[in-house]
Amino acid sequence: MQIAINIAIVIAAFWAMEFVAWFAHKYVMHTFGWALHEDHHNPTDSAFQKNDWFALIFAIPSWLNMQFGVMAGFDFRFYIGVGILLYGIAYVTVHEVVIHNRWGTRNKITNWYFRGLARAHFAHHKHKTKEDGECFGMLIVPFKFFKRTATSE
Ligand SMILES: [Zn+2]
Ligand SMILES: [Zn+2]
Repeated sequence: MQIAINIAIVIAAFWAMEFVAWFAHKYVMHTFGWALHEDHHNPTDSAFQKNDWFALIFAIPSWLNMQFGVMAGFDFRFYIGVGILLYGIAYVTVHEVVIHNRWGTRNKITNWYFRGLARAHFAHHKHKTKEDGECFGMLIVPFKFFKRTATSE
């Protein structure tokens, strides 16, 4: 039974992170955190973006949860940390690899779900300033973007 609870904690932490990421994107990155996020909306030709720091920042709660969880004999915090880690991997894979094509593999991806996520995220990228943003989420986006006729790209 414990294993089912642990798996449920991982899944809950994973999807809670979609909310945390949406919230941080809307209320941190597009407000006082804009200095680190701006070069993601207005790219330079550098291989790395200041925005990439957020991946390291979000690794901290994952690491701390796992660290304290292990020290307590693998209590629930360990599984929260694992859920955050898995979300981070999913976010980087979807955002950097699938959507922004940073390693040149995007055109191999035809899956309807990923195409919908990409349409929604490109709607986000239409805005070059911190104000008037839309679609701050990553894995959960408004239903209209899954229709083939949705704008963008
Ligand atoms: Zn943004
Ligand atoms: Zn982006």
